[in-house]
Amino acid sequence: MLLKNKVALITGGAGLNGLGFATAKMMAEQGATVVIADLERAKPAEAAALLGAQHLGVVADVVDKASCERAVAEVLAKLGRIDILFNNAGITQPRKTLDITGADYDAVLDVSLRGMLYMSQAVIPAMREQKSGSIINTSSVSAQRGGGILGGPHYSAAKAGMLGLGRAMAREFGIDGIRVNAVTPGLIATDINKGLIPEDRMKGILEQIPLNRIGEPKDVAGCVVFLASDLAKYLTGVTLDVNGGMLIH
Ligand code: NAD
Repeated sequence: MLLKNKVALITGGAGLNGLGFATAKMMAEQGATVVIADLERAKPAEAAALLGAQHLGVVADVVDKASCERAVAEVLAKLGRIDILFNNAGITQPRKTLDITGADYDAVLDVSLRGMLYMSQAVIPAMREQKSGSIINTSSVSAQRGGGILGGPHYSAAKAGMLGLGRAMAREFGIDGIRVNAVTPGLIATDINKGLIPEDRMKGILEQIPLNRIGEPKDVAGCVVFLASDLAKYLTGVTLDVNGGMLIH
């Protein structure tokens, strides 16, 4: 058991086909008590109940600072600590640079980047007090390549911003025993891209992936569990590529 007695908070974890829920499941299997934080409409309590009675669902809109603070206060009141924060909530939009409106920019940047900042700000004081913590952020291969498969340039910018913010936080909070790392998934089969890639395009994409398959949510979950665990206790500020070799650099 890699995460025995740990409490893990996962944002955007309620979608049953998503990276967050796959990670929640694997963390629970590794002994963690898992808190799924998501928008009300995503039904976080129902998702958490699927993991078992000891796990918790909380409503949190990561774009709203007060909502993050309320969620964290609820978790601390019920579970007493937070050892792992997985900043995973994100949305994407297929857009070209000249078509990105101010509202598009706000929507995409806010969930990934502002959300990472607000939820980290809410959780870090408790981690600091504990003198330990592991924060993992879901960036994307899109941040590294200047575009993934579906997301527009504003999505690449949001995900690249997460890498910068995370590395800066890693420097700032190492002294408090808090590690901050990122995963950069390639193309992973979840609801975010379901049905959006035509078959002929998929063939071309697969030719660019040395492992010759699209990723599964548990491919990412395994990497997040590793970064959360003490196996990675001397890692901070790293970016773990989870892309089947789509980007070798
Ligand atoms: P998903 O749509 O299943 O998951 C996104 C989750 O974020 C949903 O549960 C949604 O309700 C939640 N969410 C959206 N806005 C929120 C808000 N304001 N507050 C709280 N939660 C909010 O898709 P996924 O593929 O599992 O995506 C998870 C993360 O992985 C995202 O950050 C995404 O950008 C990133 N990512 C995905 C891929 C991929 O190929 N699937 C690749 C690289 C990165």
